[in-house]
Formats: sequence, C-alpha cells, structure tokens
Amino acid sequence: ANALVWFRNDLRLADQPALAAALAAGQVPVCVYIHEPEEEGDWAPGPAAEAWRHYSLAALDASLRARGSRLRIFRGPSRAVIEALVAACDIEAVYWTRRYEPAIERRDAAIKRALREQGVHAESFNGALLFEPWELATKQGGPYRVFTPFWRAALAHWRAHRLLDAPASIPDLEGDPDGIRLETLRLPPARDPDALLRHGWKPGEAGAHEALELFIEGALHGYRQGRDRPDQVGTSRLSPHLHFGEIAPWRIVAALETQRSAATSADIDAFVRELGWREFACHLLHHFPHTPDADFNPRFDRFEWAPPQRRLLQAWRLGRTGVPIVDAGMRELRESGWMHNRVRMLAASYLCKHLRQHWREGARWFWQHLVDADLASNTLGWQWVAGTGADAAPYFRVFNPVTQAVKFDPEGRYVARWLPELARLPMPARHAPWTAPQLARRLAPDYPARPVVGLEEGREAALAAWRALAASR
Ligand code: FAD
Repeated sequence: ANALVWFRNDLRLADQPALAAALAAGQVPVCVYIHEPEEEGDWAPGPAAEAWRHYSLAALDASLRARGSRLRIFRGPSRAVIEALVAACDIEAVYWTRRYEPAIERRDAAIKRALREQGVHAESFNGALLFEPWELATKQGGPYRVFTPFWRAALAHWRAHRLLDAPASIPDLEGDPDGIRLETLRLPPARDPDALLRHGWKPGEAGAHEALELFIEGALHGYRQGRDRPDQVGTSRLSPHLHFGEIAPWRIVAALETQRSAATSADIDAFVRELGWREFACHLLHHFPHTPDADFNPRFDRFEWAPPQRRLLQAWRLGRTGVPIVDAGMRELRESGWMHNRVRMLAASYLCKHLRQHWREGARWFWQHLVDADLASNTLGWQWVAGTGADAAPYFRVFNPVTQAVKFDPEGRYVARWLPELARLPMPARHAPWTAPQLARRLAPDYPARPVVGLEEGREAALAAWRALAASR
C-alpha cells in the first residue's frame, strides 16, 4: 500500500514525522510538493522566499533521489491534486506536518475532513515547533500575550524531542505520476536567478546543518553580546532554514546541549530563548489570526499615522532616507534577502515613529524581500516595534538610530559595507553625515545631505501623536 507524504514547509528528511509515519506503517511514501501560493490568503510568499524555496526543493529532490525516491511536484489546488493522486496511486494514507498560518490552518482542516470522509487516513504532525500553539496556556486556560510568562511556562514543561535520522533508503512508486519540472514553477527571479547563492546562502537540509555547525564553532561563543552586532557574524542565520523546515528546532537545541559547559551555558540559554520568540510568534498568530493585518492592540486603530507618503516610503524602501544605519539595513535586505535583527528594529522604528508610516507598509516590504519571511515572526516583529503588539515596545520609546548605530556598529563597518558611498567618511560622521556637512559633501557626495525626516523633529511628532492617542478615551 502507498501513502502520500505532502511536503510543505518541512523540506528535510531527518526528523520528518510525516515521512517516518509512512515508513513505520510499511507504506511506500509518494513524496509530493504542491505549489499553490493563492491558498496562502493575502500573504502569498514573496519573491525572495520563493527563490529560496526553489533551491530548497531542488535539494530535497536530490536527497530523495540519493535514497531511491524522488519529489513529485504539482500545481494546486492542493485538495484536487491530493484527491487525484489518492485515486490514481492506491493511496491509503496522507501525512503532513502542520503549519500555523490562519489561511493554511483552514485549508488543511478542510482537506483532512474531506479525506477522512472518503475513508482515507489523514494525519498531521508537529514538525516545526518545540511547543505547538495550543500546548501552553495561562492558568485561566487562555493564550499568553506576554513573552516572559510564556517562556517560563515553556521551560517548566520542557521535554526532549526524539531525534530521527534521515532514512538510509526510501522506496518509491514505479512509474507515474510524474508531476512537473521544478523549473516550470519559475520561482527564482528571472533577472538574477542565483543572487541568493552569491550571498553565501545554502538552501536545503545540508545547508541548514552547515549553518548550525558554523554557529556552534563560531558565533555561539559570546552570542549574548554578539547577537546585537550587525558588523560581526554574531548570529546563526538559521532563520530561512527554520522557516522552510530544513532543520527541526529540537535538533538545534539537542546539538547545542552537547556543547553545554560553564563557558557556553549562558550563550546557549540566550539562543534558545530566541527560538522561544519564534515559538511565541506562532502562538500569537494561531490565537490571534487577524494580527497580520490589524493592530493587536485595538487602541491603535485610532492612532494618527501620517498619510501614506510615496516619497518617504520610497526613500525608506530603497535605502535613501539619509539615516545611514537604516539605509544600510534596507540595502542589506534588498541585496541579500536578510537583515540583522538589531537593524530590523531600527529600520522598522524609523518608519513607524520618525516617518509615522503605518507598520503594515513596512511589513509588506519585508515580506517581499526577506528570504526568511515568516507570517508569525514578521507580524510579531512589526507590531513589537510599532508598539501596537501584544508584548511590545511602548510607542513612546523611540530609538535614536544614531546612538544605536554608534553602540552596535562602533567602527561603522556595517554601514560602510552596505553603503559604499559612505565608506570614505570617517567615524563618527559616517553614522550622522549631516553633522559634518562639509566633510560629507566632499567624501560622500552621493549620499543624501540630510535625513528625509530629522531625528528630533520626527521624534517630537511621533510623541505628539502618541500623546493625542493617550488623551483620547
Ligand atoms: P539568531 O539570533 O541566530 O536566532 C536564532 C533563531 O531564533 C532565528 O533563526 C529565528 O528563528 C529565531 N528568532 C530570533 N529572534 C527572533 C525574533 N525577534 N522573533 C522571532 N524569532 C526570532 N524573523 C523571521 O524568521 N522571519 C521574519 O519575517 C521576521 N521579520 C521580522 C521583522 C521585524 C520588524 C523584526 C524586528 C524582526 C523580525 N524577525 C523575523 C526576527 C529576527 O529579526 C530574525 O529571526 C533574525 O534576525 C534571524 O537571524 P538569525 O537566524 O541569525 O537569528
């Protein structure tokens, strides 16, 4: 008998519970990927993430082939494809690992119901999280809204997940159905199909394990401080690998635990806590499914955002605001598909506070350009910075991007890397060229002479808007 293993954002063979279920039941796993961005609701994946997916699917197919199987690719609708395969291939069970985006949860529930009504065994598994969104609840039985108690509960309920090695060989169906060629999905941008690879990314399960090993040998040591330094390799860069499920978070935790010593303990705890933010993001998205598009805190529905201004938005998107740390981040994003977390916070803050543009504008742009674009983490990140979220930085706390830049990019190396037009400007002017206008005119003539919205002026206007909101009851 055969089983369908429906690959989604779990593009790996180790710790793959859907694949393991088929093999354990003695079924021949028919491994499929169904491309259907329209089923993602308003949040169809953007071009950067789709390019990543292309390479990750290719890597998965290669690993399957090395074991005697292969990945069959189809275009959706998902339900129609699955039902056709069930009918054509003598399928008695369909297995997949769960996703938590609202539109996907609804779709998957409908597919599971339909299959069961047709007498097909349909079963889903946790493949992505240390704790699924419904596993942790407050004393009153509701969802958490604040990270610290959420994480305390996680640590109190901690358990080791069983590790499953990738199967050495995987049987495959003889012959049809073939599916379509990956290239026909045209996922990487035609203009520059392998930009991603040029930036050193290695999509796929092997790349994920490599990133983990590099992290363990390097940035893990001193992670607690290093994680805030965009000028250094201070973090793991595992985020796209985690988003596409190329590695299980519990595999990462287990690998780190083997490194625990007096010297590494605090760094390991700090890193696992960051994985905790990813878990918290999924918890919030599952329980508050409207939040990718609406303020978590409804009070902000009355906040006076400035009217959308194309000029400001374009300056921000293209890295031409005149605030170097913000612009460097926005260039890093467009060029490499990723941005350092500290800089994500600063770039987002400048948009939401100094420019007072709605956080949704920023969330959408990030969505298009991040290789790790993830509905849960992106929503949490933006609502946190904007001050509209569950557990958020209060709106009135406005980051000063220059002070922050001096603290976290002290030699200006990060800014120089992504804004070569500022590289000749010495420090500290490199972080605030308008404070040394003559020098800037001479050494950085191609960079905006002053910020599109000045730091003091923007901060005052943001605080005035905040006070108006606080006063309205
Ligand atoms: P590390 O420091 O090595 O952390 C390890 C892992 O922990 C990450 O890979 C990630 O899975 C998780 N993690 C770390 N920080 C956070 C966090 N603040 N929230 C949730 N998970 C976290 N992360 C995404 O994966 N996708 C997004 O779309 C996304 N959008 C963001 C938008 C904004 C405005 C902000 C402020 C943050 C956003 N983040 C997002 C969170 C964070 O910036 C990235 O996860 C992190 O920079 C990834 O780099 P890393 O893997 O080297 O992180």
